[in-house]
Amino acid sequence: MTGAVNPASTDECLDALLRRCGERIVAGRGCERAEALFEVRLLAGFVTGLDTTALMLQGDRPLEPGSHHRLESLCERRAAGEPVAYLIGERGFWRYRFHAAPGVLIPRPDTELLVECALELLPGTTRSRVLDLGTGSGAIALSIAAERPAADVHAVDRSEVAIRLAARNREFLAEQGASVKVGLWQGNWLDAVAPGSVDLIVSNPPYIAAGDPHLTAGDLRHEPIEALVADEAGLADYRRIIAQARTVLRPGGWLLLEHGFEQAQAVGGLLDQAGFETIDTRRDVAGHPRVTAG
Ligand code: GLN
Repeated sequence: MTGAVNPASTDECLDALLRRCGERIVAGRGCERAEALFEVRLLAGFVTGLDTTALMLQGDRPLEPGSHHRLESLCERRAAGEPVAYLIGERGFWRYRFHAAPGVLIPRPDTELLVECALELLPGTTRSRVLDLGTGSGAIALSIAAERPAADVHAVDRSEVAIRLAARNREFLAEQGASVKVGLWQGNWLDAVAPGSVDLIVSNPPYIAAGDPHLTAGDLRHEPIEALVADEAGLADYRRIIAQARTVLRPGGWLLLEHGFEQAQAVGGLLDQAGFETIDTRRDVAGHPRVTAG
């Protein structure tokens, strides 16, 4: 058998394996080859514990069979649409790494804008009380708390799975050198929050309309629908949050909302109706209107 070429055997060198896995992902997802190869390298790094340079140096040699099979099976799952963050259990957001797990929304780069806007409203020494609604993985609340250690940051989510993951992420940030004190609470939006007790509310609520075609194609299928979809064409949770925020905020407090790129007017309108003054909607990295403040 020596010298026999069998592309599926574990004798295949790493470079060839990565290319073949990349093709598999391109075929499954219809994405660009460069994107597929980037994902394969992330998965290969996860399986082997090697960084990009070490993977390159290893390119003309095979992986040991266990890692070879593990990488192939992860790439197969990726080709079928499972998000990389769930496969490797992690996603970078703001300045830290966060655990990611099925059942909880994966942090998005767009949402870093919400953190940026919050920090602009919070001076460096602020002792303000900040509340993140529908925190999911905790990425928003924990990132704000890491930047503003004197602030009193709390986060709420209805999902117990999310609150447990956010607690794990609080530990994970401590391992990364950011010991943050964020209060984590299981609850429904602002139901359990005292009137006049909060200076800044931030939220990335569900805002996709039921029946949106993105929900059934691509990676979103694997994420929790309750973190994505809201009634009234995606606006129901804004209505609820905005109505409650009026009583929970201290005078002069702020409400910062992430929304879909076509929802700036609708969300701005709801804020107006509730008597909030709004400032210009901020755009995300792709240039889409993404965060509105009242
Ligand atoms: N921005 C997310 C997406 O379209 C949706 C997040 C949300 O509904 N809050 O993938």
